[in-house]
Amino acid sequence: MNFAGKTAVVTGGSRGIGRAICEELARGGANVVLCYAGRAEAAQETVTACEDLGAKALAVQCNVADEAQVKALMDAAVKEFGRIDILVNNAGVTRDGLVMMMKEADFDAVIDTNLKGTFLCMKAVSRIMMKQRYGRIVNLSSVVGLRGNAGQVNYAASKAGVVGMTKSLAKELATRNVTVNVVAPGFITTDMTDALPEGAREALLSTIPMKRLGAAEEVAQAVAFLASDRAAFITGEILPVAGGFGLPTPLYGSYMSAGAKG
Ligand code: NDP
Repeated sequence: MNFAGKTAVVTGGSRGIGRAICEELARGGANVVLCYAGRAEAAQETVTACEDLGAKALAVQCNVADEAQVKALMDAAVKEFGRIDILVNNAGVTRDGLVMMMKEADFDAVIDTNLKGTFLCMKAVSRIMMKQRYGRIVNLSSVVGLRGNAGQVNYAASKAGVVGMTKSLAKELATRNVTVNVVAPGFITTDMTDALPEGAREALLSTIPMKRLGAAEEVAQAVAFLASDRAAFITGEILPVAGGFGLPTPLYGSYMSAGAKG
């Protein structure tokens, strides 16, 4: 995909899915501005990876839950590259626990980063993109936001909220040639899922029709598609990248395991 001359801001670009998104956009020729919470060294590794792909890249420390820091991030991107064409709201955290044990601070921390952070970044680029009459916003939700998950009410609420905000902003900006979409990953191999205990991982795999976790690069390619001109007439939509996780279960039991030949 061709992103030559385009500038992309990717939140949480220091690791995992965010780093893969930065690399995918850099591969297409975009200037990349990535933000990170605290891991400056990891962020610099992403910058180097983008530069090795022939792109210009800049890392900025920014807590997406802080409006002043978000404004400084977007100002830095405009100062360096003159415009912002693509925003990918990828920064995200988990603080899992059953409702009766979940601390208020754990609920707030997840909502602040995942939901309010996405709002603040979208707010900060909206005017810029409207004036340009061009923009692509891609928000990372999760299949957990669509289906729920025990132990993750805070995370599920934040990711379901991202879907509602996406559809609403898509309607606000549609006439200005700014699209706003969601990528909803299933379970992807990153630091976030490495924390799963072995038993939980086995149980999880049994629920995924493709019987594997996804790779960060597979999510990045879906994000790049929605950020590209090939997706010019797609807005307010959700693209799951989940290996079939969450598809309806068979109506008549498992036809395949009953020995059906293909
Ligand atoms: P990681 O935990 O690997 O990386 C999180 C990234 O977000 C890091 O770059 C981190 O920066 C940054 N970050 C965290 N908090 C903030 C903050 N307040 N302000 C700015 N940056 C912040 O996450 P993943 O790559 O696994 O996930 C990326 C996105 O994809 C998230 O939104 C997640 O919810 C979503 N997702 C992931 C799935 C998975 O299976 N991994 C499944 C479904 C959705 P630093 O490195 O400095 O800490």
